Amino acid sequence: RAKEQGKNQYRVYHSGMDIQSYRSFMLQNDLRKAIEREEFTLVFQPRVDIDQGTIKSAEALIRWEHLSWGTLSPSEFIPLAEETGQIVKIGEWVLRNALQQSSAWQKKGLPPIRVAVNFSAQQFLQKDLYETINGILIETNFNPELLEIEITESILMGNQTTITKTLNQLRKLGVHISIDDFGTGYSSLNYLRRFPVDTIKIDRSFIKDISTLPKNNMLISTIISLADSLNMSVVAEGVETIEQLNILRKYNCKVIQGYLFSPPLSPLDFESFLQKSEEKLKFYTDNQSASI
Ligand code: C2E
Ligand code: MG
Ligand code: MG
Ligand code: MG
Repeated sequence: RAKEQGKNQYRVYHSGMDIQSYRSFMLQNDLRKAIEREEFTLVFQPRVDIDQGTIKSAEALIRWEHLSWGTLSPSEFIPLAEETGQIVKIGEWVLRNALQQSSAWQKKGLPPIRVAVNFSAQQFLQKDLYETINGILIETNFNPELLEIEITESILMGNQTTITKTLNQLRKLGVHISIDDFGTGYSSLNYLRRFPVDTIKIDRSFIKDISTLPKNNMLISTIISLADSLNMSVVAEGVETIEQLNILRKYNCKVIQGYLFSPPLSPLDFESFLQKSEEKLKFYTDNQSASI
């Protein structure tokens, strides 16, 4: 298998491949051309500050408008891009475009939106990662305070010296760091103390079971108070129901991301969501324990 042959190797097609492997094989080849063919787009999912009913940040999520397969989910093609190292180029494209989009909104007079960009482990291993990020910030003339980098716990398990150095450099610029899918990887409380992390994103799987399993609620409330005591903020991912929102509110979780408020949106839809957000979100701030 191509994966076992190491990085920067492409799968080799052979007859007898099953459909899934065939699709991966085709996609991996097409990935090489996707940037220049301008087939990638970004969607933005608002994060709601539930105390004030405002939106101060959004997560940028990549989509691939494939000519023959339609819109592809990153869960399908990001792993393929990681296998071949193409994730590095794609990641730069994502960062540059996310920053350009946020700048464009500001030029239109919208309030500043911090944009959160996902980084894969492969990208984080790049020796010149800091220089690349700093270069794109300078090139786009972007306020580093309005950039957030989402990394997973598994990234923090890599070379401690390198990671600490990179994160400290980014932090010094003013870039925010968050831990994505928190609780699903190898979480060590030590990591939280050692690395300069601003935000913990509680994984969707914990939110999903929130109202049925009290034990899960206990985990969530523990994560939130832990973050509090370490002076970190918390984002709850994948909030879909008002019941989940109300329980999270009880535990003092302030920032919510999920379908309850909005799915990821095209830049234009995001803009109109922002413009209508005050009215839309009033319901949730007026009724502290609103129920539908
Ligand atoms: P993630 O970073 O944890 O992103 C959150 C995912 O949850 C997104 O899926 C989002 O659409 C989805 N989501 C948000 N709210 C809800 C909800 O209420 N319910 C449910 N069921 N899902 C919700 P998406 O966009 O398909 O992205 C999947 C993953 O792909 C991301 O997970 C991230 O790990 C990766 N990804 C996306 N964009 C990028 C990128 O630009 N670079 C890299 N390296 N990875 C990316
Ligand atoms: Mg993320
Ligand atoms: Mg996540
Ligand atoms: Mg994820």
